[in-house]
Amino acid sequence: MDLSRRDFFNLSAGALTGTALGGLAGLGVSLAPTLARAQEARIKHAKATPSVCPYCSVGCATLVHTVEGKIVNIEGDPRSPHSEGALCPKGAAIYQLHINPNRATKVLHRAPGAAEWEIWGLDRAMDRVAELVKKTRDETFVERLENGKLVNSTTAIFSLGGATLDNEWNHIQQKLLRGLGVVAIENQARI
Ligand code: SF4
Repeated sequence: MDLSRRDFFNLSAGALTGTALGGLAGLGVSLAPTLARAQEARIKHAKATPSVCPYCSVGCATLVHTVEGKIVNIEGDPRSPHSEGALCPKGAAIYQLHINPNRATKVLHRAPGAAEWEIWGLDRAMDRVAELVKKTRDETFVERLENGKLVNSTTAIFSLGGATLDNEWNHIQQKLLRGLGVVAIENQARI
């Protein structure tokens, strides 16, 4: 393929800004062999551990590549009978669930009316959540409606799950909340 001077400068600028690969692809250059080699180099000496995408109940199979205990890559497992190595965009980003400088690793609490976030220890936060759940339930629990119908519920507590909750967590969450009489249980992935 012939590259004009303009094309060359466009590609050079792309390289500086991290878009050179996209620039080459736009010019009709096949990147598949290069990308395959780069991927191969990244996982060449890695240990591959079969796993499952945690994001939804489709349960697509993954391979987690680690080098010296550190995750270097996660991709679809082609041996999976139902997903055959494919992952949806969310599943394809699982790596960022583990390696992500923006991930919150501490409990942040902002008191009512406060402008600043405060870092709390996990035990303190869990105790506070338990305290408020119990207080709210005690104050709002309804055993029977006025017509005598047994309902054993509270409508004052709402549970909203996130897309990163896995099946096991959701199972336990349902058991806990139904046991408390909570009826408003929803998941962000469905909204
Ligand atoms: S890859 Fe997508 S479809 Fe598959 S389990 Fe993960 S979130 Fe669900």
